[in-house]
Amino acid sequence: IAQLYGPLNNLGYVYRSVNQSLVDTERLLKLLNEPKEVDDKPDAPDLIVEDGEIEFDDVSFSYDNRSTALNGVSFKVPKGSSVALVGESGAGKSTILRLLYRFYDLKEGEGRILIDGQNIKDVTQRSLRKAIGVVPQDCVLFNTSIGYNIGYGKFDASSEEIEIAAQGAQMHDRIMSFPDGYDTDVGERGVRLSGGEKQRVAIARTLLKNPPILLLDEATSALDTSTEKDIQKALQNLQRGRSSLSIAHRLSTIASADVILVLKNGQIIEQGSHRELLAQDGVFAAMWADQVSTSGDPTASIGDQSVK
Ligand code: ATP
Repeated sequence: IAQLYGPLNNLGYVYRSVNQSLVDTERLLKLLNEPKEVDDKPDAPDLIVEDGEIEFDDVSFSYDNRSTALNGVSFKVPKGSSVALVGESGAGKSTILRLLYRFYDLKEGEGRILIDGQNIKDVTQRSLRKAIGVVPQDCVLFNTSIGYNIGYGKFDASSEEIEIAAQGAQMHDRIMSFPDGYDTDVGERGVRLSGGEKQRVAIARTLLKNPPILLLDEATSALDTSTEKDIQKALQNLQRGRSSLSIAHRLSTIASADVILVLKNGQIIEQGSHRELLAQDGVFAAMWADQVSTSGDPTASIGDQSVK
């Protein structure tokens, strides 16, 4: 893990990277009320990530001990692959991400969540959250330079590293068109970034953080075709070699995922590649056909489509 993260004795970096992912994640996970902090077990070891394989093993979960948010969910995200979660509002997509980030611990009998065979409730939260990069729907920008906003992903990143990350996130050319390049102020007092540009800033930050595991919450708003292409390319760069779980709304993301999980009422009702699910001609195929025919546009949002 030291190889992945550089010197661990750099407390400033550790603090900042954990802190940053918390800020983003709170937004990603749209937390309405602060969940109870989960406690590490005494002497809990750090998570050791080798492949970054994620496994949900018969996971059930309820927020209030009455209604069920997840019910017997099992799936794997093999090393370096991308899994897209689709399903109507309330189906359980965000709950899956929240549990993986350990906002809640599973109780006895509620199943297990493993990363490279280690139960996430047995390792330190700090090491878990350090291994996970979060790309939220809407990233927080500081009223300062665009360079700083990207460099926030890694303590003491050099300007060269920042530029490489921006290139990977398809933002470099856009930044060079700003009056002061990387020194241009963004946010309320500076250049206003579009939703798609903000998401690419989040992607650049995450490229700098270099985590083995990714959680992505795709924006529901429709994007124009060229922005869509830029984001697709940026996400491709980010997802390469990492295991990712995405709440997917856009048809292009869904089509390019290795595996799609279709959720309904806290259960996986269909799963497979895009091609397999279309051949299966079930719920997903109907949802897809409906979306493509009404929009006729591959950049359209499939967000919160009712799964009948
Ligand atoms: P959306 O697309 O609207 O974000 P989702 O698929 O992400 O929906 P979840 O947010 O995972 O769905 O919700 C799953 C279930 O858990 C829903 O029935 C929801 O009402 C319930 N739920 C979610 N968050 C909480 C909470 N903090 N307290 C109680 N119930 C919750």
